Amino acid sequence: MLMNTYPLLVSEDLVFRSKQSTMQDSVTVIASSLAGLETLTEENVKQAMAVVEETGISRILVTDESGRILYDTRETGSSVGEYAVYTEVVLALTGNDAFSISYQGGAFRSRSAAPVLYQNQVIGAVYAYEYDTEQASLLKGFQSNLRNISLLIAAVVLVLSAVLSRALTRQISELLSAIRSVREGAYGRRAVVRGRDELAEISQEFNSLTDRLQKTEEARRRFVSDASHELKTPLAAIQLLTDSILQTENIDPATTKEFVADIGQEAQRLTRITEDLLQLTRLDSGLMQQATVVDVLPVLQQVLRMMELVATERDITLTYEAGEGCLVCSTRDELHQVIYNLVDNAIKYSGTGGRTQVKLFCRESRVTLAVEDDGVGIPEEDLPKVFDRFYRVDKARSRAAGGTGLGLAIVRDTVERRGGTVEADNRPEGGAVFTVRWPLARREEETP
Ligand code: ADP
Repeated sequence: MLMNTYPLLVSEDLVFRSKQSTMQDSVTVIASSLAGLETLTEENVKQAMAVVEETGISRILVTDESGRILYDTRETGSSVGEYAVYTEVVLALTGNDAFSISYQGGAFRSRSAAPVLYQNQVIGAVYAYEYDTEQASLLKGFQSNLRNISLLIAAVVLVLSAVLSRALTRQISELLSAIRSVREGAYGRRAVVRGRDELAEISQEFNSLTDRLQKTEEARRRFVSDASHELKTPLAAIQLLTDSILQTENIDPATTKEFVADIGQEAQRLTRITEDLLQLTRLDSGLMQQATVVDVLPVLQQVLRMMELVATERDITLTYEAGEGCLVCSTRDELHQVIYNLVDNAIKYSGTGGRTQVKLFCRESRVTLAVEDDGVGIPEEDLPKVFDRFYRVDKARSRAAGGTGLGLAIVRDTVERRGGTVEADNRPEGGAVFTVRWPLARREEETP
């Protein structure tokens, strides 16, 4: 609409202006050529007009000072003798130039009038009227060209926007259907990524989000199934033992006692597993005690004192080397559990007569705790997996040693929650080494 209206208004205005100047010029020329006459009469006006150059104007009227027409260029239907009751004539007779123009029905109608003066007295008026279809038809052509161009552009725009919006909605509906599928639980579904626009970026983001969701969901399922399996084993043993006691007739008290002791052991195992599971759930939910600045050394000494007895029983030498001022931001209980689990493993997986050494030192801005043993070590391919929940290199050995397969998972989660890292490695001389690194804390951070 703008494209159609604005140029038309401008070109109409241009025509108006050019008409005004040509018409007014002609009328003024005629008026000044009549200005030499003292009074205007039909004869002297006719004579004077005969020498006026052809102006190309459709009709020219000359009136006397009362507005009576003395001269009319139109021969048939001439209005000579009548009164020219036109606004422009009235204006001219009061001494003003007048002009008006209109565009109607495919033609420009312009009217112009000027007073004829004799010694500054209005003695008559010249009135010109022009009916122009030529310029109007030019304008009409221009208008219809513009309309055609606009229609063509509109059609192209419509087709293009239809094509584009279809492509866009197709991509959106594809993404939507992928989102719905994933919501329903089909975590394997991915959105098709086309092009490089924002929608493609959203699809990519959605796909990587679904990747993570799928991995988390798989880990959750594996965890639930592993946990139920781990809980089922001691429960099945308890069931078997109780059935044996109940179903064996005349069972002697010594065997009963033995069986009950076994039931007790299985119950202890169940307790250990559920405690570890609860601990992991707490770590997952982020419900942890407020951290304070804790010196690792006293905690390490306490754990080693506790483990001393087990180590001596197995003829394992338990030693430590520690530096002062190893402060970390954590809680005593957490540090206790981390050190306990690592030292317990070192003792568990070392043969009799082995050696376990703990090193604690702080260097630069890190506190490092290394627990080394000279036991069986860990096969290279299992090293990245030992921190996984329920992962065990040797299931039978771990079970026999009373392991739950959750100890290292708890260590990793606890340490990482406090901004630390833990890694497992094999020592060149045999045995495993677990290294924990925490950021070094400063005394000022300690809460009273
Ligand atoms: P578990 O309760 O079975 O000890 P962990 O999570 O503590 O569970 O350890 C996972 C597995 O890593 C163990 O089953 C064992 O195979 C291996 N592992 C852990 N510590 C050691 C070690 N010091 N030496 C050899 N193997 C180890």
